[in-house]
Amino acid sequence: MSLDLVIRNGRIIDGAGNPWYYGDVGIKDGKIAVISHIKVKSAREIDAKGLIVAPGFIDAHSHGDFNTLIYRQMENIIHQGITTVMAGQCGSSPAPLSDLIREEAQRGSDAQLPEGISLELSWSSFDEYLKMEEKTGLGANTAHMVGHGAIRSAAMGNDARAPRKEELQIMRKLMKEAMLSGAYGLTTGLIYPPGIYAKTDEIIELAKVATEYGGIYDSHIRGEGKTLIAALNEAIEVGEKAGIPVQISHHKIASSTLWGSSVETLRMFEDARGRGLDITVDQYPYKAGSTSLMTLLPPWAHDGGRDAALERLRDPKLRARMRGDIENGLDGWENFAKELGWDNVYVTSVISEENKSIEGMNITQIKEHRGAEDEYTAVFEVLLEEEGAAGMVIFYGDEEDVKRIMRHPLHMVGTDAGCCTVEGPFCRGKPHPRHYGTYPKILGKYVREEKVLTWEEAVRKMTSFPAQRFGILDRGLLRPGMWADITVFDPETVIDRATYKDPHNFPDGIPYVIVNGEMAVDDGKYTGALAGRTLRKSLY
Ligand SMILES: [Zn+2]
Repeated sequence: MSLDLVIRNGRIIDGAGNPWYYGDVGIKDGKIAVISHIKVKSAREIDAKGLIVAPGFIDAHSHGDFNTLIYRQMENIIHQGITTVMAGQCGSSPAPLSDLIREEAQRGSDAQLPEGISLELSWSSFDEYLKMEEKTGLGANTAHMVGHGAIRSAAMGNDARAPRKEELQIMRKLMKEAMLSGAYGLTTGLIYPPGIYAKTDEIIELAKVATEYGGIYDSHIRGEGKTLIAALNEAIEVGEKAGIPVQISHHKIASSTLWGSSVETLRMFEDARGRGLDITVDQYPYKAGSTSLMTLLPPWAHDGGRDAALERLRDPKLRARMRGDIENGLDGWENFAKELGWDNVYVTSVISEENKSIEGMNITQIKEHRGAEDEYTAVFEVLLEEEGAAGMVIFYGDEEDVKRIMRHPLHMVGTDAGCCTVEGPFCRGKPHPRHYGTYPKILGKYVREEKVLTWEEAVRKMTSFPAQRFGILDRGLLRPGMWADITVFDPETVIDRATYKDPHNFPDGIPYVIVNGEMAVDDGKYTGALAGRTLRKSLY
């Protein structure tokens, strides 16, 4: 048999957690044809002596959607050795999209995108969106979940209320349509509008539809700080009442008053499994998170959507009320500014040239830099000037919790990152270093240097475990017949190079990445290949 590509002499870590072994991997027509000592020559040969040959990494939690229609290369993702991303997370997916919010969503998208680049939000259904993506080709494979927020706003706009009976019916229908089109499950983002307005019952109703089609429930829970335990219990309740497997997104202990509580949260997951709930978690290996600066505003301020929120920011009376709520807190609301302190909240990306200099400053520094009266005023003004399109990094965590979660067998790896690159229009601001560093950081720092995990266990958490979790069973293992998604890395040198101050750096020590049998990274360089596919969950 002639082969397209042979990777010789590497240490094979198969993804199942088994100890490494020596072998050659032969690839033909996009799939793994043989793993053995291969005698025949092939068109292309890679000598992997001293290197580890692993399945391509599967990112359990990715925001690598939206922009994939206009930035297809996904270089920050591919360079980490990731060959498949699970997109549509945190309640937010590009589809479904309805005319109720299309114009506002278009303005939001325009505000976010770099100058000169635009994306027409012309699709409606989940299937239409996937078809558009399929036409373009991508750097990595993309599997999509459907966001509860997208479904909710398509059915009833961004209002701060419960859905009416007929609106809930539309939401169920949109959920079913997405599952029939190949969605892998339902996600929620319960700290963000409009997810924040949903009661548990509403989520259970949609989760019931997802589970009928074999989907899972993946949740950015209602709070990761002071309300963490209650929020985890809500996710478990959804799982138990809807009979659906649960994934806790980017699990973290996000308040210094709770550091150490991962002992308790991990026990909660084990107990829930003991009762028969299939629950698992993902985590990125950092003590800080990242989201929109708008998340600092209380829930009522977002009622009706982004434009309405900006309008309220212009009203001095409403601003005073927002300030009061941030100062005093509101029941059940994850209030980052109060819980973490202004010094731990950094603005990391803005759109306007005038504000470029505040990228990388915390809110106290921004207040001083602007000569603002106080931190509240500084935040409100920046939000208005940037039309809400400013990003932040928040420091909340403790290293011991990060390691404890990482060590647990129910943990898998996810980046929580979107697409960016080291030059060009998508090299903007100071995105969280997880965009470039998640996977190499675990391999270099937590396996090689600190021995928190073995190579085999780390690779399992990056490959076969997420593949099993989301039901992508023809990837994530090195076995004949599987798709040839393969990452070759150097155990002596693999390491992240992205920092909070200087994030736009690809990692070291990942010389070869193969997607569906094609070289995506060759000798450390991205080849420009768009070999990734839009994956759809198969239904029987
Ligand atoms: Zn999230």
